[in-house]
Amino acid sequence: MVPLLTELLGLPGVDVESYEANENDLILDVEVHSASSTCSRCGTVSHHLHQNHWHLVRDLPISHYGKTWLRVNRRQFQCAVCGVR
Ligand SMILES: [Zn+2]
Repeated sequence: MVPLLTELLGLPGVDVESYEANENDLILDVEVHSASSTCSRCGTVSHHLHQNHWHLVRDLPISHYGKTWLRVNRRQFQCAVCGVR
């Protein structure tokens, strides 16, 4: 984790794990922390991590960088009872 960038980003439950920078872009690799999710169909709380999804989201510019990108590792859970993701 990069404490300074995590603090700058200021999103609860979101950690900046690493970053890449070039002359135009700042890319923050962030991880969204959620230990479990509730099934939208049956309400079962799932702790089974199904797969990770990476999203590239354009965020507000920070400092002199023209563009700041958030690359989000959003965890997806699969319900153990009915299989809904
Ligand atoms: Zn379910």
